[in-house]
Amino acid sequence: MESNQALADIQNFKGKYPKQLWYLFFSEMWERFSFYGMRGMLTFFMINQLFMDDKVANLQYGATQAFVYAFTFIGGLFADKILGFQRSLFWGGILMVLGSVILAIDPEKFFFLGISFNIVGSGFFKPNISTMVGALYRDGDERRDAGFSLFYSGINIGALLGGYFCIAIGKGTFMENSIPADLRWNMAFGVVSVLMTISLITFVFTRKSLGPIGLPPVRTHADGTPKKKGIAEISVFAGSLLAIPLIMKMVANTEYTDWFMYFIGPFSLLYLLWEMRSTTINENKKLIAALCFILFSVVFWAIFEQAGGSLSIFAANHVHDQLLGAFTLDPNGVNNAANSLFVIIFAPIIGLIWLAMAKKKIEPNTVVKFGVAFLFLGLSFYTFFATRFFADIQGMTSLDMFTLAYFIVTLGELCLSPIGLSIMTKLSPKKLQGLMMGMWFLASAYGQYVAGLFGASIVSDVQNASNLDKLNTYTEGYKQFGLYAIIAGVVLIAISPIIRKLMQEVK
Ligand code: GLN
Repeated sequence: MESNQALADIQNFKGKYPKQLWYLFFSEMWERFSFYGMRGMLTFFMINQLFMDDKVANLQYGATQAFVYAFTFIGGLFADKILGFQRSLFWGGILMVLGSVILAIDPEKFFFLGISFNIVGSGFFKPNISTMVGALYRDGDERRDAGFSLFYSGINIGALLGGYFCIAIGKGTFMENSIPADLRWNMAFGVVSVLMTISLITFVFTRKSLGPIGLPPVRTHADGTPKKKGIAEISVFAGSLLAIPLIMKMVANTEYTDWFMYFIGPFSLLYLLWEMRSTTINENKKLIAALCFILFSVVFWAIFEQAGGSLSIFAANHVHDQLLGAFTLDPNGVNNAANSLFVIIFAPIIGLIWLAMAKKKIEPNTVVKFGVAFLFLGLSFYTFFATRFFADIQGMTSLDMFTLAYFIVTLGELCLSPIGLSIMTKLSPKKLQGLMMGMWFLASAYGQYVAGLFGASIVSDVQNASNLDKLNTYTEGYKQFGLYAIIAGVVLIAISPIIRKLMQEVK
C-alpha cells in the first residue's frame, strides 16, 4: 500500500520529478496564492479602509513581512524537535485558514488578529513544505535542484494569481457587479480562505504518499524509553495560540518589531551553535557553509525586495505605460507581476538546463550559482540605473528598460532562491533540517527589514525635488545597489574554494 511505501522507494523514482513533488507543488501554490493575495492587499487596505497614514501603513507592512519570515525559524525548530514536518504543515495550514476566515468575517475589526494567525501559520507551513521537497531526493541525486526549480514555479503561479485577483476583488475592479460594494473586502479575504483550504485539503489527501517523510521525530528519555508524545505536541499548539495576542501587539507597534529583529537573529545563531555541540565535525563544517549562504542571501533579499518598496514608488512616478511600443500596461502592474511571470516561464527552463548540464558533468556548483545570482542582481540594478538615460524632461522613463531589469533580476533569483532551498536540504543533518530551512527564510526576514530601511532612506532624500531630480536620486540609489551586488558576487566567487571545502562532497 502507498502509505507503507518506504523512503527508498520514493527516492528511487524514475523520470525527472517524483510524483509527490506535484502534490507539494499544488499545496504550496495555493498557500502562496493566499499569502501573496493577502500581502498584496495589506498596505492598500490599511491606508484606505483603516485610514492609516502612508508612513505608518508602510512601516506596518514591513513589520508583518519581517514577522512572517522570522516565524519560519520557530516553525522549523518545532518541526524538528516535536511535530515533524507533516503535522507542522497541517497546523500551520489550519491557522492560516482560521486567520483568513477571521479577516473575511470583519477585516476592519479583526485586522491584526487575522494577520497574526497568518504570521504564526505560515511560520509552521512555509519552511516545512520546502524541507519535505528535499526529502524526496536521496543524497547526491542530481535531479534535486531541478525539482526545487519546478516547485518554485508553483510558488510563483500562486503568487501571481493571488497578487492579482485578491486586491482586484477588494478594490472592485474584478467581479464588481456580482459582489455588493460593502462586502468586497470580506469577499477578497474570503477567497484567500477558500484557496488556503484547498491547499490544506490537497495536502491532507496526498500526505500518505509521503510515507515516512516528515513524520514526528522519535524522542526518548535518557534511558532510551520513548517520551510521551501528547504533552509536548499540545504545548506547541497551545503555545502558538498564546503567542498570537503578543504578536498582535508587536505588529501594531513597529518599534517592537525592531526589538524582535535585534533579538531573533542572534538568538538563532546561538541556538545553532548550541546544537552544533552534538553534531560531528563534518556535519558542522557543512552547517557553517549553509550559514555562509544564509548570510549572503540577506544581502540578496535586501536589494531584491526594493520591488515591494522603492521600486513600486518609482514605477508609479517615473515609468511610462508603453511596452515595446505595442502594449499599454500599468507600470505598477508590471512591477508586481513581471517577476512572477518570468519565474513561471524560466524556472522550468533553467531547471532543465541544470539537468542537461548535470548529464554532461558541467553543472556549476551551488557557490558559483550563488555568485552568478549576485552578478545578475548587480546587472539588473545597473539596468534600473540606466533607465535615467531614457528619461524625458518630466522625469518619465522607459517601461521596456524597466521590464528588462525585471527579467535580469529574475534570472538572478532563479540562481539563488530555489538553489538556496535545495542546498539547505543538502547541507543540514536530518535532525536540523527544519531549523536550517527556518534560518534560510529568517534571512529573508532580515532582507525585508533592511530593504525597508534602505527604501525609506531613498524616499526621504527626495522630498520637494522635481520629478526629474527624484528620478536621478532613485537611479543613483539603484547604481549603489548594483555595485553592492557585484561586490558580493565577486567576494562569493573568490571565497568559493573555502565554502566548497566546508561543503565536502555536496555540490
Ligand atoms: N518568492 C519566494 C517565496 O515566496 C521566495 C521568498 C523569499 O525567500 N524571500 O517563496
